[in-house]
Amino acid sequence: MTIENYRKVIERIYSEVLPYQGTGKVADYIPALAEVDPGRFGIAVETLEGDTIAQGDAEICFSIQSISKVFTFAMVLRHMGEDIFKSVGREPSGNPFNSLIQLEHEKGIPRNPFINAGALVVTDRLMELYPRPKEAILDFVREVCGNDDIYYDRRVAQSELMHADRNRALAYFMKSFGNIRNDVEALVDVYCHQCSIAMSCVDLARAFRFLANRGVNPADNERLLTESQAKRLGALMATCGFYDESGDFAFRVGLPGKSGVGGGIVAYLPGKLSIAVWSPELDPHGNSLMGIETLERFTTDIASSIF
Ligand code: GLU
Repeated sequence: MTIENYRKVIERIYSEVLPYQGTGKVADYIPALAEVDPGRFGIAVETLEGDTIAQGDAEICFSIQSISKVFTFAMVLRHMGEDIFKSVGREPSGNPFNSLIQLEHEKGIPRNPFINAGALVVTDRLMELYPRPKEAILDFVREVCGNDDIYYDRRVAQSELMHADRNRALAYFMKSFGNIRNDVEALVDVYCHQCSIAMSCVDLARAFRFLANRGVNPADNERLLTESQAKRLGALMATCGFYDESGDFAFRVGLPGKSGVGGGIVAYLPGKLSIAVWSPELDPHGNSLMGIETLERFTTDIASSIF
């Protein structure tokens, strides 16, 4: 498909999905997230050739939340390789993102890196790899999207820190099994900061191009992950990227991707493009309702997915 065809598809889907506004619910478990304008809706597509399509609020920054788990996992996978899978599994959890239930049965080894427990373990390892983890995370994200203005939204980070008791509980529980090595307060501080990163759809679509390009950043041809690591990360997104709605996302959309409770979703079509959607109203599983609707229409219209 030519870029002009993609542009027409995105314009049409944008107007078709707009009437869904008002049918979801903005995340309110963190006060700073509850203040977001529910009417925001943006879509961005980035092709591996470097073309950009930006529709609606595609250039407005929002809280990426759990999408950050892909970046921290990529950083740790790059350094630790397969060893990380001694501390975190690779099976969908079928439970909500912040559930404690499975951890007891599974002896403090989280099901996968994209539920909160798994992401906390990944960030714990990252803190051992990098002496200044918050700076390192920001540097990595800035590098992959080619935008040095990416920042931590301190207000969101503070708000999260004040409402992070469940994450603290997860971390302490895993620490009791020896699967968290750092001080829990320090870990939760880094974790809340990574969730507070503010990016636009255009930034996010650019940031996922190295995954669409099998580990190589097309902007400068730097290999960030081996081909095998990129495959593994894609497989984890395709099976675990959407909380307890991951199966339905695979069924409806058919792309590897990751959502966050800020209402963002990023997905990619290997070898071709990445696409980010933002609409803060969530469905009951915590995924952007209009985001999934948009992506389902997108893969249907372009008649392409990973399946
Ligand atoms: N900061 C959120 C939390 O840990 C992330 C939630 C999400 O996007 O899934 O509670």
